[in-house]
Amino acid sequence: LLFSILPLAAQNKKAIYKDKNAPIETRIENLISLMTLEEKIMQMNQWTYGKNANPNNIGEKMKEVSPTIGSLLYRSTNPEYRNQVQKKAMTESRLGIPIIFGFDAIHGYRTVFPIPLAQACSWNTDLVKESCSITAKESWLSGLDWTFSPMLDVARDARWGRVSEGYGEDTYANSAFAVAAVKGYQGKSLSDKYTIAACLKHYIGYSLSEGGRDYHYSDISNQTLWETFMPPFEAGIKAGAATVMSGFNDISGVPASANYYTLTEVLKKKWKHDGFVVSDWGSVIQLVDQGVAKDIKEATLKSFMAGVEMDMVDNAYVDFLPELVADGKVPMASIDEAVRRILRVKMKLGLFENPYVDVVPEEKRYLLPEYLKVAEELAAESMVLLKNEKQTLPITSKYKSLAIIGPMVKDSVHIMGFWEGMGRPQDVETIYEGLQKEFKKKVVLNYALGCDFDGDDKSGFADALTEANKSDAVVIFLGEKANWSGENGSRSTIALPKIQEDLVAELQKSGKPIILMLSSGRPLELIRLNEMADAIVEIWQPGTTAGSAVAGILSGRRNPSGKLSITFPQTTGQIPIYYNMRESSRPKSGHYQDIPRDALYWFGHGLSYTTYDYSPIKLSATKIRKNEKLVAEVEVTNSGNATGKETVLWFIKDPFATISRPMKELKSFEKKLIKAGEKIVYRFEIDPMKDLSYVDSFGERHLETGNFFVIVNDQKVQFELID
Ligand code: BGC
Repeated sequence: LLFSILPLAAQNKKAIYKDKNAPIETRIENLISLMTLEEKIMQMNQWTYGKNANPNNIGEKMKEVSPTIGSLLYRSTNPEYRNQVQKKAMTESRLGIPIIFGFDAIHGYRTVFPIPLAQACSWNTDLVKESCSITAKESWLSGLDWTFSPMLDVARDARWGRVSEGYGEDTYANSAFAVAAVKGYQGKSLSDKYTIAACLKHYIGYSLSEGGRDYHYSDISNQTLWETFMPPFEAGIKAGAATVMSGFNDISGVPASANYYTLTEVLKKKWKHDGFVVSDWGSVIQLVDQGVAKDIKEATLKSFMAGVEMDMVDNAYVDFLPELVADGKVPMASIDEAVRRILRVKMKLGLFENPYVDVVPEEKRYLLPEYLKVAEELAAESMVLLKNEKQTLPITSKYKSLAIIGPMVKDSVHIMGFWEGMGRPQDVETIYEGLQKEFKKKVVLNYALGCDFDGDDKSGFADALTEANKSDAVVIFLGEKANWSGENGSRSTIALPKIQEDLVAELQKSGKPIILMLSSGRPLELIRLNEMADAIVEIWQPGTTAGSAVAGILSGRRNPSGKLSITFPQTTGQIPIYYNMRESSRPKSGHYQDIPRDALYWFGHGLSYTTYDYSPIKLSATKIRKNEKLVAEVEVTNSGNATGKETVLWFIKDPFATISRPMKELKSFEKKLIKAGEKIVYRFEIDPMKDLSYVDSFGERHLETGNFFVIVNDQKVQFELID
């Protein structure tokens, strides 16, 4: 009964919400006053026709969609289906409230960009922003209003498959790329065409799932929560992110999707976020599995009251909120507040005025030449030259022939990585194709598969060795399958399967230079491969333009400029290892006896085909007051023969404070083009409150006087902060 009764006061009200000239908040209040409880609860429901539904059969599925749902998880490249469903909502529901269509466009839609972990290695926030605005355009023209991206889970455990989806191990880097992504997706105004709402996820602490096992419990101290995990979300919120997704994990016993502290106290009250929170897929009903709710009704109560406004695909809110309101457990004011937040995002998107997307032919929608240019640029800038003994790379005229071996050479699936959006293998330029184009008649390319990604079939080894013997150098393309990382892609070892390592050992018998090209969704255990290789490039999962990006790096048409956004440990057993750990009580001991103390390749590592000489760091003063700024500068000379882009990473170290501080912390970075022979000055303006303060376990900032260091590469210069 409660369901169908229209609020009495509403019956004669005018529909001001339809007036696009009225202020948004007035329109929202008016609409809420006209809605029944049932209509309100339906707004909180995100429906789907199945995560893996065949996109070709969606026309049929669409007929099942109710015109009153709040949101649809929409997996189809057909904008006309969207418009049809939207038309149902606009014309067949009593109030004509538009649906918001969401999907995971994580690193591209049809044009697939490199995985986010790789994007961060480019240190190029402009390019990342551009890639996100291209994604927004392709997505919008396919019928989307909203993407479940960016993922801001700071990566501390490479066994966890989802490290591929975020921006690596550093908090500041995740914050900087969060801002770039949000601005790229959302554009200048969400109501513009071709823009989509961003969703910051997975709020919060998901990446610390114990042991890297996906979906597990996260044991996070309040200090780590505030210092490491919160800042990227705060930055994304400040950049205007419309929505947030609550995670699967539980934080020290309280699930992220039922966490009043993080969702309401912090997100809504402290940061004043006025958009809405959507649960992750099933994370409401999973409260029962997590042992904090005895049944789905209680799970609904906990999740809703903690501050999750939209229920992704569970149907729990629709099933149980009516009873919970009737029981007096959920106040009407809370229902209204949740609806208000959802309607606010829809209003900001301009959906009430412009509920439909433009329908343009596919060739005008996807894979435009300018999109592919950005994709190639970003893919190439993401690649990291880890090792280059005796200038093995690039492939210059010293090589007349190359053996190109390995399971990645002709692959067009795994090279796109996990969450490939609506990317298709047939649109991918394979490495094989890229190399053929790049080297044309200049270099003879001798291909052999060698082995598959996994298994123990060595029958291809002999052919591979024959090709290697014929060639001047051996380029081996190894890697991970796409689903070895990403969601539910945890692995107990981050080494490549033994068959791939054995292939390299076999090819070493040729005595030719060994060049390893590695495609993966996580840092790899390279302790053995590193010994065998003369040069190593981590190419990650570069996406649609893999072929030309990889070929460009090999030929030297592109100078590698990537630097690691995540540390490569010596072995899996060294995890967790990240550059900004805290000091040990006995810095000289306490490491594993069987491996070196250091990581194999630390965060920030990355070589180039040229050389850069850094001047000593120059400071504008050696003492500053709390309200002053200090300028640090370094002049970088490109002293080699190739033009390149160099990123300067600026770190701060606070050697002594009330609470122990990390060994160093990234505070700024900048990437610039430097022509061969040129010098360029990089600048870091140190703002004490922003760059020298620390946050305590309650989220409060403190700025303490004393000595600090500014650090670039191996230079460390001291200055003092005074009152
Ligand atoms: C993932 C999210 C994703 C959602 C919708 C979940 O399983 O954890 O990251 O956005 O599915 O596809």
